[in-house]
Amino acid sequence: MRPFPPIPMLDLSRQDAPVEAAIRTAVLEVLKGKRFILGPRVEALEEALARYHREAGGGDCGVVTVASGTDALHLALRALGIGPGDEVLTTPFTFFATIEAIFYVGARPIFADIDPETYCLDPQEVVRRITPRTRALLPVHLYGHPADLPALVALARERGLWLVEDCAQAFGARIQGRPVGTWGDVGCYSFFPSKNLGAYGDGGGVVTRHPQVAQRIRRLRNHGSRERYRHASVGYNSRLDELQAAVLLAKLPHIDAWNEARRLVARWYRKHLAGIPGVRLPGEREGVLHVYHQFTIRVIHREAVCRALEAAGISWAIHYPQPVHLQEACHPLGYQEGDFPRAEAAAREVLSLPIFPGLTEEEVAWIARTIGEALASCASS
Ligand SMILES: *Cc1c(COP(=O)(O)O)cnc(C)c1O
Repeated sequence: MRPFPPIPMLDLSRQDAPVEAAIRTAVLEVLKGKRFILGPRVEALEEALARYHREAGGGDCGVVTVASGTDALHLALRALGIGPGDEVLTTPFTFFATIEAIFYVGARPIFADIDPETYCLDPQEVVRRITPRTRALLPVHLYGHPADLPALVALARERGLWLVEDCAQAFGARIQGRPVGTWGDVGCYSFFPSKNLGAYGDGGGVVTRHPQVAQRIRRLRNHGSRERYRHASVGYNSRLDELQAAVLLAKLPHIDAWNEARRLVARWYRKHLAGIPGVRLPGEREGVLHVYHQFTIRVIHREAVCRALEAAGISWAIHYPQPVHLQEACHPLGYQEGDFPRAEAAAREVLSLPIFPGLTEEEVAWIARTIGEALASCASS
């Protein structure tokens, strides 16, 4: 019945096999050295990450690591001076952390609907929602597909707004060869274990071409201190630790190859899912390097497809079942069902399938066949 053992959404053992030995060595060195916070590995990682962006054509930028992707977004907004009375324009179709960061600084999230092809903010919808209180645009490169950065950069310039990119799902993604994170004022990364570049615990970072912003985030992450026991402002405890930095340093040289491996899996999905009625494949815009953090299709009869995948031992996920503007936590903002019809339709139909470096074409074909058979039996009943 089942030609394969169960297929998870992400198999880190398979992905990380080529770096397993290097990670063990690096972690043991940290254990020996007994330096765990703000040590040489964090410094080396920040330099390596900055070099990665610079060498990819990201311009003269610097990187500051923090404790999580959520903190990266939070500290970026705080460092830009966004606060009470300000509005931050963002997408209703994202992981909730994007919006939490806006609440943390006391600003108000304002949503604009998505482009139904890429699931990212539609710049034309963004224009309609700008008010005199708008201070920043916060696009999310959802599933690893970059938002329309050329249009958003132009809009931010014209209206005098900050552009903060939520790159949590898109490390290594590019537009016209230029990496995400370097188009806007601040790019925010998550190194959560399941992200394309994942640590073995929580982690995050910001990339920015504004040295002052980098400097502020550096202080904010370490209790607002300029130097030891001298506090210029009230900050936070939000540092990446040396163990995570060691893991990330070992993994960073492989990220482009891993992203290519994800893109290969995506091509196999396109080939094997092509022509199945009731399946819509994800869009990939011209000039874009999509890094497929998720391979997310749209299906009719989603329930039935999920049950069939489960029966076949194939994992699946829904990113995300409820758009942010309808979340209970956002009720005070006063949004209603029908306000963002594209995001709401996406939430009803999207289905993410297993994708990771090391997933085989045979497995992809089997997943596609399972979906095709489930939809065929829906059509005939
Ligand atoms: C993962 C994620 C975050 C938060 O990152 P953490 O490291 O888990 O705090 C923020 N935004 C998006 C879109 C994410 O996928």
